[in-house]
Amino acid sequence: METQILVTGGTGYIGSHTVVELIQAGYDPIILDNFSNSKRSVLEQIKKLTGKEPKLIEGDIRNEKVLDRVFQENKIEAVINFAGRKAVGESQVNPLLYFSINVEGSIVLLRKMKEYGIKRFVFSSSATVYGDPGYDCFTESTPLSPINNYGESKWMVEEVLRRLVQAEPDWKVAILRYFNPVGAHESGLIGEDPSGIPANLMPFVSQVAVGKREKLRIFGNDYPTRDGTGARDYIHVVDLALGHIAALEALNKNDGLITVNLGTGNNTTVLELVHAFEKASDKQIPYEIVERRPGDVAAYYTDPTLAKTLLNWEAQRDINKMCEDTWRWQQMNPQGYPED
Ligand code: NAD
Ligand code: UDP
Repeated sequence: METQILVTGGTGYIGSHTVVELIQAGYDPIILDNFSNSKRSVLEQIKKLTGKEPKLIEGDIRNEKVLDRVFQENKIEAVINFAGRKAVGESQVNPLLYFSINVEGSIVLLRKMKEYGIKRFVFSSSATVYGDPGYDCFTESTPLSPINNYGESKWMVEEVLRRLVQAEPDWKVAILRYFNPVGAHESGLIGEDPSGIPANLMPFVSQVAVGKREKLRIFGNDYPTRDGTGARDYIHVVDLALGHIAALEALNKNDGLITVNLGTGNNTTVLELVHAFEKASDKQIPYEIVERRPGDVAAYYTDPTLAKTLLNWEAQRDINKMCEDTWRWQQMNPQGYPED
């Protein structure tokens, strides 16, 4: 029988790509999602891609009754927890929502896992836990110093996990700190579908290319980088999804806690990304330079060494591929997923 993996937030951006890779690697993913930031039609797209529609339970990760049902009706062996909120600005305005869903939600889930004797957990953390340490290359031992409520919420769950594994060493936990996930599945069937005006660079650029937005606003060109614009370690979402499979496999071998950065080890400036997208789409991306965005860090990227040694994983897809796949998804789905 295929190994059953509970994927919370499995219809979201990173979750849906991970579900596809799990199915293709021979796992049986079971999705728990409340559709607060995703559409039901994702499931049909996953079926088109893999030939299999994963089982879905609709509900909130904080709902103990729903979790009882999930763990009673299935033989779950591990949980990947993608469910959460991820907008920095919103987390500053509504901290209670962020601490409730991201922190309380993870704790309820862990408590229920323990009750059912399931002790293998993969957690979506973020490079935002590092804050702005004053240098560009982050290793896993770079000091943690989040600078907003979203980053704090990730740090808090990490801290809970560190203390849990210390007290109960038979847990197997992977904390994965993502750098900047972008791109889409190369089929163009699944991708990122932000609601409203995208806050992130890649979806914004893509919407300019398709004619949905007039021009990009580049937040500052006076940073100490190659061309003055901010630089990030963009990682293709399919590479990121594969990082989760590698983490699950590493947990079969190691007890305790592993903490790994998932990025490429390269960084790309805003202007470099714009040029790569122009090449991929054969469209011009009009832009203007505006003030820096408050709270932005100039540049950062991961040292990918630990991911390679611990997970035997490294990102394969470069910035051109990230732009090509984003563009294919954008063209095939100019309005994103259909409304439910
Ligand atoms: P997403 O919003 O596309 O996916 C999250 C999914 O969780 C959605 O399908 C949403 O409906 C669901 N969800 C939200 N709250 C829920 C709840 N209380 N109960 C059940 N389901 C709930 O986001 P994503 O980009 O796929 O991110 C997945 C995870 O990775 C998040 O935890 C996010 O913080 C983390 N992360 C994302 C990024 C990024 O840039 N995308 C970077 C670092 C970390
Ligand atoms: N950025 C920009 N214009 C936008 C969105 C983002 O110039 O409309 C810049 C931003 O200042 C940063 C980079 O693009 O230097 C990546 O920003 P994003 O929000 O995608 O990721 P994050 O800031 O979370 O790393």
